[in-house]
Amino acid sequence: MSFLVGDFDRSRAGALRKFCPWKSARVLQDVSLDMLWEAGKRLILLDVDHTIVKWHEEEFSAEVLAWVAAAKARGFQLRILSNTRHPQRLARLSAQIGIPTKNGKFKPSPEMYKEALKETGIGAEQAVMIGDQIMTDILGANRTGIDGIWLQKMDGPEFAGTKINRVIERIIMSVLYRTLVPSSDEATVAPSRLLDRPIVRQFAKFLAVGALSFLIDTSIRLLLMRKLHIGSELASTVWGQGLMDRFPNLVNWYASEPSRAFAPVAFFCGSFIATFNSFLLNRYLTFKIKEKTDAGKQLLRVLLVSYTGLAINVVISSLFFGIIPGHKTISLVLASVIGAGVAAFWNFAGQKYFAFRVHERP
Ligand SMILES: [Mg+2]
Repeated sequence: MSFLVGDFDRSRAGALRKFCPWKSARVLQDVSLDMLWEAGKRLILLDVDHTIVKWHEEEFSAEVLAWVAAAKARGFQLRILSNTRHPQRLARLSAQIGIPTKNGKFKPSPEMYKEALKETGIGAEQAVMIGDQIMTDILGANRTGIDGIWLQKMDGPEFAGTKINRVIERIIMSVLYRTLVPSSDEATVAPSRLLDRPIVRQFAKFLAVGALSFLIDTSIRLLLMRKLHIGSELASTVWGQGLMDRFPNLVNWYASEPSRAFAPVAFFCGSFIATFNSFLLNRYLTFKIKEKTDAGKQLLRVLLVSYTGLAINVVISSLFFGIIPGHKTISLVLASVIGAGVAAFWNFAGQKYFAFRVHERP
């Protein structure tokens, strides 16, 4: 989901009103001080991490310092409201940028907001909160009757707890973006960061390889089971009958008719070739293994993962073969989808975290 810049029509936010920002902006210096002043704002409340400085860092950008200096010169009051767990770092940042901090219950509690209003003697309607998190900065502001400006999070890692908030934030904003009146420069929206992440690209490649392998697998199974004929009979029936004649004890426990007797063999052939295809493509494209060292060990691991996946696939496909009585072709495709789906989860986890673990550098 791209970050969108503009004004939110809060009257249309409905039940999500408390989460809805007043405006959104990409970076602090994009927030116009003229606009704030004309809107009657006199108190600016600032979040710290990923709003004025990156998480864990203590160096302000020249742009942030210039914006803060301009705000002070214009006559704004400023306060820092932070949920940081490192009070000493916060004290250093506060001294460096010359803005007092407020103590109190963490956002989204209204406590720190109310303290700042009380201390400055400025009313809630004349205050604005600027922060990068909907679940803390903006929610807390709305609970206090203060307008919130939601900033795009700065690049870089963040606190583990924040990542959970981000998931909820994304869901909420996917709804609230419908109330957005985009600003005129919205054509400059940054592209989605999601696809920039190596792990997402890697997973996308794995899925593409998997889709191709699935196509190969299903085609081979269909060919062997339903398309190939010997004389006027289906080859699967002829070969299945052969299996029943030769290995009655083995076949009897899973099949009562020739085509079902042959099914595991067809499934094995399809899965085997598809697995080989996946191995080659994932090695060179998905996990980009170039080093020749450990190749043997790696191959062994891949085979272990793949053959376990293959066994899972064959067993599950065979169990579901005949899932819809009287519709053998559809049943076969369905059984293949279920088998391949379960095996795909197994294979990705196994290849990523076991087989190619040493070499993977996302
Ligand atoms: Mg923050």
